Amino acid sequence: MSEDGIVIVGAGQAGFQAAVSLREGGYIGAVTMIGNEASLPYQRPPLSKAYLAGKVDATGLFLRAPAFYVDHHIACETSVHAVSIDRAARHVRLSDGRDFSYDHLILATGSRNRPLPVPGADLTGVYQLRSVVDADRIQAALGEAQNITIVGAGFIGLEFASICAARGLSVTVIEAADRPMARAVSEPIGAFFREAHEKAGIRFLFGSGVTAIEGRDGRVDGLRLSDGTTCASDLVLIGIGVVPNQELAVEAGVRVEDGIVVDSVLLTSDPSISAIGDCARFPTRFAAHGAARVESVQNAIDQGRCVAARMTGHAAPYDAVPWFWSDQGGHKLQMVGLPVSSDISVRRPTAGGFAVFRYRGSHLTGIETVDSAAEHMAARRIIARGLSPTPDEAADPAFDLKSLAMGRGGA
Ligand code: FAD
Repeated sequence: MSEDGIVIVGAGQAGFQAAVSLREGGYIGAVTMIGNEASLPYQRPPLSKAYLAGKVDATGLFLRAPAFYVDHHIACETSVHAVSIDRAARHVRLSDGRDFSYDHLILATGSRNRPLPVPGADLTGVYQLRSVVDADRIQAALGEAQNITIVGAGFIGLEFASICAARGLSVTVIEAADRPMARAVSEPIGAFFREAHEKAGIRFLFGSGVTAIEGRDGRVDGLRLSDGTTCASDLVLIGIGVVPNQELAVEAGVRVEDGIVVDSVLLTSDPSISAIGDCARFPTRFAAHGAARVESVQNAIDQGRCVAARMTGHAAPYDAVPWFWSDQGGHKLQMVGLPVSSDISVRRPTAGGFAVFRYRGSHLTGIETVDSAAEHMAARRIIARGLSPTPDEAADPAFDLKSLAMGRGGA
């Protein structure tokens, strides 16, 4: 390798992990992270949980203290965009005009919130939640707000809804589907969280869309809904999913398809460029169609590790079992496997809550748990090993899941 070393575009969860794992794996060349946020790498999950609830402060979000990067010779360029890649010359151009040459480039550009394409989406009081800057703006606005409307009953929207309800605010959630988290979780899980949120005073409008956000003097005061009614609101959070940050790759002629396409070792169509985290579409046995783009901390961390292992002489296909969590209204939801539509959902009681086993045909594709940490850990092993207890076994509380997970019996 030359002295150019490894350049990582995106100083989020995946980029950070790649940099750290490169050093842990003994890589001695230059490692440079380029990030367009002002902060050093930080965790996003608390933004819609403990941070907005005031239980964690900004320093508690950081993945490492500033000295760590100095000690490990990881250069962090913050508040600067990578604007283009010259693949022939192997350099990245930054928004401040500088060029960084690379031996290998890692794209870890993450995703951004999907905009709501209706009039009024730019009014004051309309927010999206992706960064610590967004969270601080929302926190400041919450002090003045009474009527909160959340567009989209996904994970972030519902986490935010439960924090607002706990503050005694009036909360309405508008959702196009007929249940919460419809794309991600089974019906029993959706029904459980709907009931829990409604008990906390949250109002749901299912099967409903937003046609306009209305305001006075540039500030939001309500939403116009698809049935012609209005919903009074002084703070709106849009949470309707994300899109991958893939433009750098597109403009450089690297293959994309709802995400930067990578192979089993996370290399893009250019062998000098890898892609990891939210922005990457990778082959996986856990997806119904053989490939997926996954937005989770687990995926960002494991792909960061995988790419660093390859570059330090330990190449192996990426095959980590996907898992995710969400904290809503005092309940912990954990999921293993990727969300694929299931033919059968089997409910199993647990000591602290319940689990749902999701089958496609006779094949177990995912396990969701509520307030059941031990079962979640067993579920990770079961899905990773490709095991399929029968639906009857899954539903039977006497059937020993832990033994099955540890390979001591069962299927
Ligand atoms: P990111 O962490 O988004 O990092 C990408 C970085 O690249 C960003 O800083 C971006 O600004 C920067 N960037 C993009 N383009 C450029 C460019 N051209 N030049 C320079 N920099 C660039 N996951 C879970 O598993 N559980 C949870 O409970 C959970 N909660 C979440 C709550 C919130 C509010 C949010 C926003 C996300 C949550 N997630 C959760 C998702 C998780 O945080 C992401 O999947 C994870 O951060 C992905 O890591 P990443 O490095 O791929 O992307």
